[in-house]
Amino acid sequence: METDIKTILSECGFGFKKQLGQNFITDKNLLASIVALSGVTEDDTVVEIGCGAGTLTRALAEKAKRVIAFEVDKSLQPVLARTLAGYDNVEVVFRDFLKCPLAEFESSVGGYFVVANLPYYVTTPLIMKFIEEGEKCKGLSVMVQEEVADRLCAKAGSPEYGAITAMVALRAECAKVKRVPRTLFYPRPNVDSAVVRFTFGKGIEVADRQAYKKTVHAAFSSRRKTLENNLVNCFNMTRARAQQVIEECGFPPKARGETLTPEQFALLSEKLK
Ligand code: SAM
Repeated sequence: METDIKTILSECGFGFKKQLGQNFITDKNLLASIVALSGVTEDDTVVEIGCGAGTLTRALAEKAKRVIAFEVDKSLQPVLARTLAGYDNVEVVFRDFLKCPLAEFESSVGGYFVVANLPYYVTTPLIMKFIEEGEKCKGLSVMVQEEVADRLCAKAGSPEYGAITAMVALRAECAKVKRVPRTLFYPRPNVDSAVVRFTFGKGIEVADRQAYKKTVHAAFSSRRKTLENNLVNCFNMTRARAQQVIEECGFPPKARGETLTPEQFALLSEKLK
């Protein structure tokens, strides 16, 4: 398959666009393992974001009932016409997925899994789109830079733990399921990657997601400051009130945001209301 794809890309006169994060996967074993780890079955609809030359799309189409593949780069059209020829359960949509209204999309598709090898610059907005708006997303398997994978799956109190970790915990359980060396991409990027799997429906219970989000962002607004200082600055509250809320939650007076677990953020957001 490796020579196949490279030949097709060259015969189609395709020029790689670094700014779109175009590092394609050609390794058959890696493709098979991404599909297996995603948990997709023959009854499922899969949404692939950024299908590139269609190698992962093909592997998904061999397993799933239906694949809807988004790609922003229209110059891949002739390449995809060749790599996906004969796969009649695949629809390619040439569109920037970040600009796609998710609620509208979900009403026409129903439940679905997302599988993607993501370009670095869309990783966070895309994951947040599903965390904040994805009501019918059953699972998300994404290839991201390894450093980002470590941040997404970090434990409270570790240096990698951040606002995105706490936001993800709201909706899904997150696990780094595979490390992928840079040598398996074409062209080769400068960093290694990892596949992260999010299982939706396994998040924490919060009454008000917006209040939770505001609390998390306030707590991480300045990592060097204590939670008390960040609350005073971001919620425009008195120091006495911030100290009282922290005490009511049972946190140490000098606690920092990065030490709080997602459950503790949920408690804090309730107390702040
Ligand atoms: N899935 C292919 C693979 O694994 O070989 C390609 C992966 S490549 C890392 C990412 C692809 O996403 C590129 O083809 C790029 O053009 C596309 N892309 C980048 N931003 C996008 C966006 N906002 N919406 C849809 N596709 C996007």
